Amino acid sequence: MKSALPSPDLLSYDEAAALVGDCVLRLGKCRPAIETVELERAMGRVLARPLAADLDQPPFARSTRDGFACREAEACTHKFLTIAGTTRAGLVPAGPLPPRAAWEIMTGAPVPAGADAVVMLEHVEVDAGRVRLLPPRKVEPGENIVAQGAQARAGDELLPAGTTIHSAQIALAASCGCATLPVFARPRVAILTTGDELVAVSAMPAPGQIRNSNGPMLAAMVAAVGGEPWVLPTAADNAQTLDASLEQAADADLLLITGGVSAGKFDLVEPALARAGARFHFTGIRIQPGKPLVFGDLSVRGTSATQKTGGTKHFFGLPGNPVSSAVTFLLFAAPVLAALAGKRETAPRFALARMATHAERNGKPGLTRFLPAYCDFGASVGELPEVAFVPWHGSGDLGALARSNCFLVVPEVAHGLEPGTVVQILLP
Ligand code: AMP
Ligand code: MG
Repeated sequence: MKSALPSPDLLSYDEAAALVGDCVLRLGKCRPAIETVELERAMGRVLARPLAADLDQPPFARSTRDGFACREAEACTHKFLTIAGTTRAGLVPAGPLPPRAAWEIMTGAPVPAGADAVVMLEHVEVDAGRVRLLPPRKVEPGENIVAQGAQARAGDELLPAGTTIHSAQIALAASCGCATLPVFARPRVAILTTGDELVAVSAMPAPGQIRNSNGPMLAAMVAAVGGEPWVLPTAADNAQTLDASLEQAADADLLLITGGVSAGKFDLVEPALARAGARFHFTGIRIQPGKPLVFGDLSVRGTSATQKTGGTKHFFGLPGNPVSSAVTFLLFAAPVLAALAGKRETAPRFALARMATHAERNGKPGLTRFLPAYCDFGASVGELPEVAFVPWHGSGDLGALARSNCFLVVPEVAHGLEPGTVVQILLP
C-alpha cells in the first residue's frame, strides 16, 4: 500500500526525469522502420533521412528588392547611369551589366553579371532612360543581393533525420523538389482506460458513473507527439479483465494505462502488470498532481516493437484523474513516445515566466507541483510573460485544465509565490 504522505523513498521529479531520460537515450539509438509519404501528408511526421539541397540555394544571385542592379562604386558617385536593361522574376538578364550602367530588376530576379548591389526603387531618381542614387544615400557591396549558394550548396544537408516536419520543413522540402518524404513509421500506442465507473462519451452516466475523458484526451496527446493512438476497450476493475486487456495490448510499441494505480482497494493495475512480467522502474514520484505514476517495461514477443525497443516495451500507469494523466503524459510519456517516433527533440518544454498574482503555496510540502496556469505570452521586449494560476478544484477539474495553456512549476521547497517571482512553466 502506498502512504498518503510523500515517502522520502519515492523519487523526486528530477530523479524520475533523469531515469526516464536514460530510457529515452537508449530508445533514440533504435531506428524505427521507414516509410514514404506525400509531402502534403507529411505534417507532424518525423524525417527519416537527412534532407539535402538538390541545387544551390538560391540557385542564382537574386535580388531581394525591386530596384536597380548596379556597381556599388559607380552608384555612390550619385552620377546618372544608363538603364541598360530590365529583368523580372522568372527571366534571366540578357547580358552582363555594361560600364556606367544600371539594370532595372524585380524582387526574385537574377542579378546581371558585373552588378554587386541593388539600390531600392524608393532611393533613386529616374530621368530619360537614366537613373541615379539620391544623395546622401549610400549602398554597400552586396546590398539587397543574396549570392548564389549563400543559403546552401547543392548536396548540403539542410535538415537532419529526426526533425519533426511542420510547415517550414514542408516548404524547404518543396524547394528541393521532394514530392514525397521518407518518414519514420509512427509508434503504435495502446491506451487502456480502467475503472468500473467509466462509461462511453455518448452514454448518459448513471449515478456514480462518469464519462471516459482520458481515452479521447490521451489519443489526442499521442497523435500530437507523433504516435498512432490505439484506444482499447475500457477495462473493469478486476484482475481477469485487466489481464486480458494487457494481453490484447501486447503488439503495441508503448502502453499507456490510466486509473487503478493509486492506493485504493480496487487499484489493481500494478498487480496485473506484475503478473504480465513487468519490471517497475518506479511506482510513485514526489509530484502533484500525478504522484501515483508508474513506469516500467515488459518483455515483448512481437516484431515491430522489438525492432524499435530492443526487446522491451515501456508502459506508464497514469493516475486516473484527468489533470494528473495530462501532466504525467507531458512530463514522462511524451519524451518516451518522441524517442520511439525517432524525434531528435524529446525533452519536455519549459520556459520562464513571471508570477502575475500572489499565490500561497497550498497542498503537501515535499512535492514538485505542476498546476494548471494561464500565461500571457504577449510580453514586451525585456519582460518575461506573466503567468497566473487557473482556479481549480483539484486534479479532476477538467474545466481548469481546458482553460489553462501551461502548467506552473512549484518547486518542492517553494513557499509563497510573490507577484513578480520568476517561475518555470511547462508548455503543452
Ligand atoms: P483512479 O486512478 O483509478 O483511482 O482514478 C482517480 C480518479 O480519476 C477517479 O475519480 C476516477 O473516476 C477518475 N478517472 C479514472 N479514469 C478516468 C477516465 N478514463 N476518464 C475520466 N476520469 C477518470
Ligand atoms: Mg479507478
